[in-house]
Amino acid sequence: MLIINTIKQMREFTMLHNTKSIGFVPTMGYLHNGHLSLIEEAKRTTDTVIVSIFVNPLQFGPNEDLDKYPTDITNDTELCKKAGVDVLFIPPINEMYANGYPPNTTVNIVNLDKYLCGAKRQGHFDGVCTIVCKLFNIVQPKKAFFGRKDIQQLRIIETMVADLILPVEIIPCETIRDIDGLALSSRNSYLSPNERQDALVVPKLLNLVLEQIKSGETNASKILDNAKAYLATINSAKLDYLEIVDYDNLQLQEIIYGKVVIATAIYIGKTRLIDNIIYNTNENKYAS
Ligand code: AMP
Repeated sequence: MLIINTIKQMREFTMLHNTKSIGFVPTMGYLHNGHLSLIEEAKRTTDTVIVSIFVNPLQFGPNEDLDKYPTDITNDTELCKKAGVDVLFIPPINEMYANGYPPNTTVNIVNLDKYLCGAKRQGHFDGVCTIVCKLFNIVQPKKAFFGRKDIQQLRIIETMVADLILPVEIIPCETIRDIDGLALSSRNSYLSPNERQDALVVPKLLNLVLEQIKSGETNASKILDNAKAYLATINSAKLDYLEIVDYDNLQLQEIIYGKVVIATAIYIGKTRLIDNIIYNTNENKYAS
């Protein structure tokens, strides 16, 4: 496995391999089985797999966890080697923002970031799209793999690729969960053993919403109020948001119909966890 730290070297590699299909998995590191499932899918469907690790300051707000975001490059390198990754691209900040920080030019998201994390983390998705766009320009992948765990990010990146006519196919991948249902996340490492137990309220809350939809209730406020009343009984959890949005445009639904995303962000102690369920009410089944 090659480890590359500069854009120049990364470009030289992609030039040499331009007859092959490059599969790309962008990450912020501290890899877990969720990341590895993306890598597996890339291995299965492309010839050359490139994983990047870059903790992008532009997508963190002033009071967020940029400074303490977990890192373990040694373990990440081992995991990537074992997974058969061809290139691990780990650029330092002065490579990715060589023209100065903060950058003069960014990608601006309209509408799709109005609700959910977009509403709570101002500028977050502009930061995400700016770095993903830059990474695509460097790596020039045929396919790029993203997890449904971050559903708003995935939908926004799919839309950016279509809007900016970027020559890359976005491949959505399933959310990987621990055996008890908690979605894997690098941020789970912040949780104390007690908090890890309390965190199960996250998938539980989503399922409380889903059960009501399955039972035929279509009034979103009623459904969400019921679920929020349950959450209020859990001391260690603080709700950031719980919403039901349309899958395609990520706008709030008042009356539930079609393909929807039930999405939540909950603080367990100081750790903010997000999760979602995608459900097709026309077909009465989980959707992807
Ligand atoms: P991150 O390192 O958190 O920026 O995530 C990098 C990629 O891994 C993103 O496409 C995430 O959606 C994806 N990812 C993170 N956690 C999971 C998970 N539990 N299951 C599937 N994909 C995930």
